[in-house]
Amino acid sequence: MGTLIMTTQLAINGKRLWQSLMDLARIGATPKGGNCRLALTALDGQGRDLVTGWMREAGLTVRVDQVGNIFARRPGRDNSRPPVMTGSHIDTQPTGGKFDGCYGVMAGLEVMRTLNDAGVTTEAPLELAIWTNEEGSRFVPVMMGSGVFARKFPLEVALAARDAEGKSVADELKAIGYAGSEPVGGWPVDAYFEAHIEQGPILEHERKVVGVVTGSLGLRWYDVTVTGMEMHAGPTPMPVRRDALYAASFLLQAVIDIARAHPPHGRGTVGEIHAHPGSRNVIPGQVRLTVDLRHEDAQRLAEMDSQWRQVCQEVARRHNVQVEIKDVQHFPPTPFDPGLVGKVRESAARRGLPAMDIVTGAGHDAVYMASVAPTAMIFVPCKDGVSHNEIEDAKPEDLEAGCNVLLDAMVARAG
Ligand SMILES: [Zn+2]
Repeated sequence: MGTLIMTTQLAINGKRLWQSLMDLARIGATPKGGNCRLALTALDGQGRDLVTGWMREAGLTVRVDQVGNIFARRPGRDNSRPPVMTGSHIDTQPTGGKFDGCYGVMAGLEVMRTLNDAGVTTEAPLELAIWTNEEGSRFVPVMMGSGVFARKFPLEVALAARDAEGKSVADELKAIGYAGSEPVGGWPVDAYFEAHIEQGPILEHERKVVGVVTGSLGLRWYDVTVTGMEMHAGPTPMPVRRDALYAASFLLQAVIDIARAHPPHGRGTVGEIHAHPGSRNVIPGQVRLTVDLRHEDAQRLAEMDSQWRQVCQEVARRHNVQVEIKDVQHFPPTPFDPGLVGKVRESAARRGLPAMDIVTGAGHDAVYMASVAPTAMIFVPCKDGVSHNEIEDAKPEDLEAGCNVLLDAMVARAG
């Protein structure tokens, strides 16, 4: 009965959580109040040093694996049990914010510190992870550390990846002192929780504090090449033209229309478009564009895919161009574990926090971890739904609330 009372009364220290986030944000701070700590740069190394220092101060045992993932363990009463894990990343985009990723790591650390202060030992051990190169802006593949851990691609592929200057992950890991010796993954994890800012506007708009994340949107990426014919913009009459850019404009419209026809979770984006040869008085002969389609439901994502392919055929025929589609990436939708999702929902309710179910439209380490262990995520609102931006912001009280939910969920699972 003693432990029951203690568990329900445990609360994290919101001030300490906020202070840790602000201290970490000093490393790689940008003039507009954001962060630039690209994966495996010297600044990323400094960030890792700072956080692993805090981990050790909290009595955690720190290990680093061969792709530079960091794990900090808090022993349980029964250390033969697999750990209940939480984590996220501390690398950022070039003009990133202070909260994306960092919040999940600092929230996990705050959970450990809170349990230390309260003198609570869980049955199962707890583990805090910092995943290498989640953002993917310096090295591809994105979500690299968790991807190798979850056997989505081999360690060798990750280590051989090079940045724009030709520097490899393997060399840069060594340079910052995080080329660990532990094999990557292959050990059991009991459960994985990840707290994260929403990176979208829904929670703020609905005036909710906690997003109970039920799963992630599936995604299909395509590289599309439209080929027409370059001709002089002056002498060539309109009916005989094979204008690749004009044809591509219909594809662009179609991507948006297809997403809109699958509400509320359909998404469609053309993020890049390049017209060749890019001259004022030449009819564009070739256009390359990227297409990103997403949906939470596998069936409906498949429908979006077939509609998209049909549109490409129609546009090719109607505008006398070739449309070539290359499939670049396909992540099926990932539903999270209903049991863990339930624990997140229960905790929010017990603490009287306004909460709603939500899906994640962004990729997260948790999406890979869902194939290793039962997984759930906790979202908190971010200001105006903005992230991957220096002005990314979140309220201390919301961050505190999400961290309390993480604490409850981890303790409930670990016993
Ligand atoms: Zn993130």
